[in-house]
Amino acid sequence: MANPFVTSARVEDEVKKALAKALRKDPAAIPLGSSIVKDLGGSSLDFLDITFRLEQAFGIRLAHTVILDHVEETYGEGKAVTPGGELTPAAVALLKLRLGEDSGLAEGMFADEIPALLTGAHLAKNVEDVLAALPAECTHCHAKAWKSDDGAKVVCGACGKPAVYPDGDALTKRWLADVQREKRLFAAA
Ligand SMILES: [Zn+2]
Repeated sequence: MANPFVTSARVEDEVKKALAKALRKDPAAIPLGSSIVKDLGGSSLDFLDITFRLEQAFGIRLAHTVILDHVEETYGEGKAVTPGGELTPAAVALLKLRLGEDSGLAEGMFADEIPALLTGAHLAKNVEDVLAALPAECTHCHAKAWKSDDGAKVVCGACGKPAVYPDGDALTKRWLADVQREKRLFAAA
């Protein structure tokens, strides 16, 4: 169920703009498939900046906790990362579902190598996941009258308040629970 008010092209545009602003580059020179760290020279501070810019553009809140932390919080310490810092096979399998088979993930990889795999396309997907979770009705007045004047922010056509989306971390947890139900990657703690 995608969001009918915001196109994928708009999301990709905003991701490029956010990357360009944070990394001081020309948006036209930013391929969405390039690694934000390796190819574009981004730092972890830049990730925060980019995330903030996207949240502002769409009136959403993206995940601020990495998925491996959600795994350990839910299924127990050591389930995603070994004491030596390596990804567990279950974590590799999970991340492949999230980032794609061709994202460069491999068994024996260290958790701190993950950020280097992230691309603008992954950010766009995270934004689209939140946008797709647009609730059926306005949280404030219960009208079903969404509209968007700028193609990015969705507001209620009745009371004018902005749409309240579930936040990215809540959606990540929901996704994790769905994957676990289907694939049983993580043994019970
Ligand atoms: Zn309303």
